[in-house]
Amino acid sequence: MPFNPLSFNQQLPSSVLSIDDGWIARAHAVKHCPSPNFDARPCGVSLLVIHHISLPPGVFGGNAVCDFFTNRLDTTQHPFYAQIADMRVSAHCLIRRNGEIVQLVNFNDRAWHAGQSSYQGRTHCNDFAIGIELEGTGDVAYRYGQYAALQALTQALVAHYPAIGTHIVGHEHIAPDRKTDPGPSFDWARYLMPFGIPVPEKLPEKLHLESTAADGLR
Ligand SMILES: [Zn+2]
Repeated sequence: MPFNPLSFNQQLPSSVLSIDDGWIARAHAVKHCPSPNFDARPCGVSLLVIHHISLPPGVFGGNAVCDFFTNRLDTTQHPFYAQIADMRVSAHCLIRRNGEIVQLVNFNDRAWHAGQSSYQGRTHCNDFAIGIELEGTGDVAYRYGQYAALQALTQALVAHYPAIGTHIVGHEHIAPDRKTDPGPSFDWARYLMPFGIPVPEKLPEKLHLESTAADGLR
């Protein structure tokens, strides 16, 4: 079934977002928090990658993720932060547990979120991907407001960058030897059902066995 924005709008009539010059228009439950962790894209956008992150790992709320993505994390606040103190990374957006969307990087720029990765034979997915982080872990269910926000954002992105089409995957699908996010707790069918997009192929079980503390990073 092809993507049908009309039927999608009917399901989420109050969640329509607009994108202006690479940024989501400011609206209720949308914030901008510009990160310096990006550079120029060598090509257009044709992939959407879903991640998860929480800082400290397994702890929700607070501003640590945005601080980390903007190189302002106070590394004295938790022992884990020493491991990530020198990382310079950011997704384009973070969706908090309450469904608030925080945009960190212009969609037209290359955010540093996927690291070494490959999609359908193309490497360096950051070149052509938009990265969305869900605040969460691989073993705690994501919240209704996060699915609603992610669906509204996906609708806007697919409309604005039509080359994304049905190319929506998790970090675990493009870096399966390194990453497990968004993980077993993410309900792909629930997320993609309104779009008529097939759920990404499952990975071999062995790839789900370990979830690293730094899951969701790069
Ligand atoms: Zn990730």
